[in-house]
Amino acid sequence: MSNICTAPIYKMNSFENLFIEMTAKHCNQKCKCCYIDFNGNKNNKDFISIDSIKESLEDTKDKNLQCIYLCGAEPMTHPDFNQILRLCLKRCNVCIMTNGSFLNEKKIRFLSKVESEGENQIIFGLSLVHYNESENDKMKYRGNYRQNIFALKTLSRYNFNSVLFVQNYYKLSEAEILQKFCEIFEEQEIYNVDVKINCSYPDYDDENYTKPSISTDCMYGRILTQNGVYSCPLLSGDYRGRCGSNFQNFSEVVSAESEFCATCSKNNNTMFTVV
Ligand code: SF4
Ligand code: SF4
Repeated sequence: MSNICTAPIYKMNSFENLFIEMTAKHCNQKCKCCYIDFNGNKNNKDFISIDSIKESLEDTKDKNLQCIYLCGAEPMTHPDFNQILRLCLKRCNVCIMTNGSFLNEKKIRFLSKVESEGENQIIFGLSLVHYNESENDKMKYRGNYRQNIFALKTLSRYNFNSVLFVQNYYKLSEAEILQKFCEIFEEQEIYNVDVKINCSYPDYDDENYTKPSISTDCMYGRILTQNGVYSCPLLSGDYRGRCGSNFQNFSEVVSAESEFCATCSKNNNTMFTVV
C-alpha cells in the first residue's frame, strides 16, 4: 500500500518584508544553538554585493515593503554595512538582526546619526535563549547575555526601538519569560523593547496538536541571498526553499516540506519579523 504525504502549501499574502542575507556564513561568534552549518569555517568572505541589493530594490519597487531586515550569519561584519543600511533606509524601516557584539556606544551613536538623516526608522533585533545569564550563555557563547543586555540598554538611551527574540529552547512558559524580562528591563532601566518568543508551543510534542491559524514568514516576504531568492531565513540556501534567481520572476508559493517548516508551522506567529 502506498503512503502519499503531502506538504502544506503556503501562498504569499503580501510582500511586506524583504530579508537580505548580508553573509551566509561569516560570523564573529560561535553559538552552540546556531542553525547555520558553517562547515568548520565561519570566516567565509561570502558578502552579498551592493549591486545585487540595488537590483532587488528596483525589482520590488511596486511592493509595499514595511521593513527590510539585514540578517546573516552576522550582518554587521559586511564591509559595506553602513552604505547598505543608508541605501535601504531610503526605502523603508530597516531592522538589523544582530548578535549585539558590534553595538558599543560609539557605533550606536553613529547609527543614531544615520537614522536622523531620513524619515525611516532603524530597529534592532537581538536574541537570547534564557533570562538567566548562565543558562543563556550555555546555549550561545560566553558573554552573549551581557553583550545583549548592554546593547539593549544603550539602544534604549538613544531612543531606538528593539525587539528581543527569545528562542525558547528551554520550553519555559511564556508568562515566566515575559515576567522575568520585564523585571530585568525595569532593573536595568531598559525601555522600548518588545519581547518576541519563538517556539513556545506547549503542545509541540503532541502530534495531534494543530494551531488554529498559521502565520509564517513566507506568507509575508522573501529573503535575498547571493544565490537567489528563498522563502525565509530558515531555508536560505536550501533547495526546498528556492523561489527563483531574482525578484523579476520569483515564486509566491512555498511547499512547506522541510523539518524547519514543521517547527515553524506550530509556532504561533512569524518568527523573524518585528511587527
Ligand atoms: S551569532 Fe548568530 S550567526 Fe553567529 S554563531 Fe551565533 S547564532 Fe550563529
Ligand atoms: S520554514 Fe520558512 S518556508 Fe517553511 S513554513 Fe516556515 S517560513 Fe515558510
